[in-house]
Amino acid sequence: MVAPIPGHPGAVPNPDSGILVTILKATPMLNRLPPRGRGPGWKPAAIACIAAFAAIAATALAQSQTQPQKPGDLGFTDTPMLPGMPWHVHDPARPHPAVVTPGAVPGAPPSDAIVLYDGKDLSHWAQAGRGADRGKLVDPKWPLRDGYFEVGPETGELLTREKFGDIQLHVEWSEPPNITGTSQGRGNSGILLMGLYEIQVLDAYNNPTYADGQAAAIYGQWPPLVNASRKPGEWQTYDIVFEAPHFEAGKLVKPAYQTVFWNGVMVHLHKELLGPMVYRQVAHYTPQDAELPLALQDHHNPVRYRNIWVRRLAGYDQPEK
Ligand code: MG
Repeated sequence: MVAPIPGHPGAVPNPDSGILVTILKATPMLNRLPPRGRGPGWKPAAIACIAAFAAIAATALAQSQTQPQKPGDLGFTDTPMLPGMPWHVHDPARPHPAVVTPGAVPGAPPSDAIVLYDGKDLSHWAQAGRGADRGKLVDPKWPLRDGYFEVGPETGELLTREKFGDIQLHVEWSEPPNITGTSQGRGNSGILLMGLYEIQVLDAYNNPTYADGQAAAIYGQWPPLVNASRKPGEWQTYDIVFEAPHFEAGKLVKPAYQTVFWNGVMVHLHKELLGPMVYRQVAHYTPQDAELPLALQDHHNPVRYRNIWVRRLAGYDQPEK
């Protein structure tokens, strides 16, 4: 039995309607407010009334979030089993997904991301040593600018110090504003997943080249579904989902797949890869490690990068922590 609202005979609040309760409770206070403009007490009374209204609303909201649960709120065990799964439909025992706080603005890293570059330093990155440092990882030679960094032409590719398998990757890049070169020589770099599988970075704005080598192509295999390029000098985004290949006893049992959004436009959807990137050949797989560094390609052009983050991906129904 729900009690009527005092001063409102017959008015019984709907227990689901916190807003209705709030309005009904606040109405008597509004009625006690002196008429506007009459006397010096009008403003303080109005402020007190608004504060009381806000407090009542907050209480109603809190109460609505702590309502006792009803049968079925948390699931059912008298429902059919989902095919091939250990779960009933709406199974209360099924693990709840981990809570992730999204980035504050579009493109910002969510709470479970590993931020590889946030405009400050390249501490997450390295390069292969040369000369006396051959065989070692050394600090990057690529130049840091104001909030971004740039390919250091002829210094070699940039590698993450951490290794990754299945990932979601966000990366922002910009073609050099001074247009030089043609085709593959105009603003060429690349996102090398596992250091092997290239999503091409290139000037694709009025720069004819072969389709499977243009920007956002899975290089040498699949052109992007559409050309969503921005002009040179403008920042562009790739959001990539990469699924690493799996090998068992030296044999490929699952190829790599990529899903790519270019400036928010889907350009590859769960596309199967033939193998690591090669030039003028048909790609093919050879056994590789389960995790390898992500790399950015040095193709001798000063392409710019900023705001790079990655999330490790796991499957459905991970155990709750
Ligand atoms: Mg390239």
